[in-house]
Formats: sequence, structure tokens, C-alpha cells
Amino acid sequence: MAVDGKYFDYNGTTPMCDEARAAWIETNERHWHNPSSLYREAGAARLRLEDLREELADMFDIDEPERVVFTSGATEANNAIIRHLAGDGEKTIGVSAVEHPCVYAAVKREFSPERVRESKSVDDFKEWIAMQSVEAVSLMAANNETGELFPWREISERCREKEIAFHTDAAQWIGKLPLDGFGECGFVTGSAHKFGGGKGAGFLLLPEGEENFRAAVGGPQENGFRAGTENLPAIAAMVAAMVAALREVESGESDGRDAFEDRITEKLEAKLIGAESPRLWNTSMFLLPHTKNLKWLTRLSTRGFSVSTGSACSAGQGNPSRVMAAHGLGFDEMGRVIRASGGGATALENWIALADALEEVDAELRDQ
Ligand code: PLP
Repeated sequence: MAVDGKYFDYNGTTPMCDEARAAWIETNERHWHNPSSLYREAGAARLRLEDLREELADMFDIDEPERVVFTSGATEANNAIIRHLAGDGEKTIGVSAVEHPCVYAAVKREFSPERVRESKSVDDFKEWIAMQSVEAVSLMAANNETGELFPWREISERCREKEIAFHTDAAQWIGKLPLDGFGECGFVTGSAHKFGGGKGAGFLLLPEGEENFRAAVGGPQENGFRAGTENLPAIAAMVAAMVAALREVESGESDGRDAFEDRITEKLEAKLIGAESPRLWNTSMFLLPHTKNLKWLTRLSTRGFSVSTGSACSAGQGNPSRVMAAHGLGFDEMGRVIRASGGGATALENWIALADALEEVDAELRDQ
């Protein structure tokens, strides 16, 4: 794997893992035919595609593989689900304020403003569900910026009791934490490049009995749920990466992030963001004590460290971050935030090396 211990942007993207690369190459060579065509080789590609669908369904304890729909990634999957949930325009959706832009912007586009309820806390969802004042709920599983985890299982159960449609964007959860519960919670989305599976592949899970969903219309692919020739090598890579990632999930979590945070809060007087909530084990978002984050980022980059100033999708945009605003940060503070996200291979000493580098940069910037 061409990645060293100084890469701290795994929430942005991950390198393709060895298992995924091998599956990609093998499938691209053996099964480059169109799985929808009718000759023998195409039939073999089709069998491979359906085996992969079954393998992925099994990981989610889903007995009906057709509930797995392969897509180009989580953005496409989330857009399609939100469009589906909006339906005839008569429905109201409850959504959290910290969703990834591909959910949040889709909600803003597909629902009229009076039909969107934006949560300030999880209690808002509980109230709307109890009152049945929403017909759909979208609550992400894990936040890409802070790593915060949300109680998607509990909220989905409450939705089921009241027959309210539920969607969770699980792009940051899948590959890092166990999958129990996703198979029965409603609409779920995942993205291969977040767990070592390569770019341009993802999937969505449909709730049991869903027949009307259409991510794209055209050919009959994906059991009619999403038209477009399947990217079979990318799908094979994604499934192989997921198997590998789940093995790692079972073998335990890294303690490097916590040691890193102890160091930076003590020595650097950095303030952690979102640390009062349960979080992904790999993510640390923090407020620097002084100076714009881009100056820190550049100096860290010179030392070989890759970190992020926040979600890769909003980096470089001048808009204030909804996620940071939800944590009470002012505009000036938003410009002093850094996110470090490690992977399974990021060792304790890598995290400590990043803390050392931050201390060096701190001294340099204070001397300026
Ligand atoms: N949802 C979340 C929580 C993400 O972190 C990302 C990627 O940053 C996406 C969706 C979009 O995924 P993709 O790159 O597969 O479109």
C-alpha cells in the first residue's frame, strides 16, 4: 500500500488496499464484458456481479440480495434516496444540521423549505417521530468532520414503529465499526473509497419490500433500481475491501488518537471538537490556539504530514461550516480548525509524531 504513517486524511479518502487491487485487476481482466449482454462471457460477468451482490448482502445479514444497489459512490446514492423520499412534494423530512453536503444540499433542492425540519439535537427527531410530524428522517451514522456517532439504530426503530421512512448516510461508519443493524434500518449508503475500495464505487441498501425506488432510469440494470452499466471491477474491489475492513474492525481499535489528543490538549492548548460525544476511533477535530489553519497545514505538509481543514468537499470554499457552527464556533474560529483522521495502519507512534510536528509548528508560528 503506497501510504506512509504521515497520512492523516483517511476520512477524505483511503488508498486502495491490496485485496481490492487484486480483485480489481482480476475482474477487469476476466470479466470486462457487459454483464447485461447475452453471450457466454457476459453471463460469467453477470454471475460474478450477482455473487458480489450476495456477498455484500450477507455482510449486512440481508436475505434478499436485490436490496443491494451498486452506485458510483455515496453522493449518487444519497442524492437518489433524498429525491425518492421527497416523492410527490407533499412529504416533510427531518434532517440533522450536520449532514454531509450530498445529503443536506439534496434535501434543500428536493424539499420545499416549509417541508424541511432541521434538528438541533437527537431529541428533535424523537419528538417529530412521536408526533408523526415528519414522513421521512435522514440521520447520518458518523460525521465526516468530527467523527461523532449518531444513534441511528434507535431513531430507525422509532421510525419503523410509526411507519416513517428512515435513511442513514453510513459512508464514514462502514469499514470502521461493525455493521449490525444496517440491514434492517431502512435506506443506507456506503462509499468504497472510504474503506480502501477505490474511487467511483458505492452502494445503497433498500428497505425490505421497496419496489418503487429508481436512482436512474434507462437500462434494466440493478434489478431496475439504477440504470447504467455496472463498473464490475470497481464493485469487486469494493467488496474485497469491505471483507478486509471488517476483519480489522473485529481485531480492535487504535488507541493512538486518544494519546494524540492528550498531548495536543496539554501541550498545545488545542480544544477538541465533538469529543463530548461518542466518536469514530480514528478522527480528531480540534481548534488551534492561534493562526489560520492553512499556515499550520502548509508547514505540516512540508514535514510530510497530510491533514485536513475539515470536510474535503467544503475545503477551499468560503462558506461557514454548518458542522462547526453546530458546535458553537464563530467565523474566526472556523479558520483555525484541523481534522486529523488515521486508518487501521496508523500506529501510536505516527499519532505521536503528528503531535510532535504540531508542537514544532506552534513554536515557529509564535516566533513569527
Ligand atoms: N457522506 C459522507 C459522510 C462522506 O464523508 C462522504 C465523502 O466525503 C460522502 C457522503 C460522499 O461520498 P462519495 O465520495 O462516495 O461520493
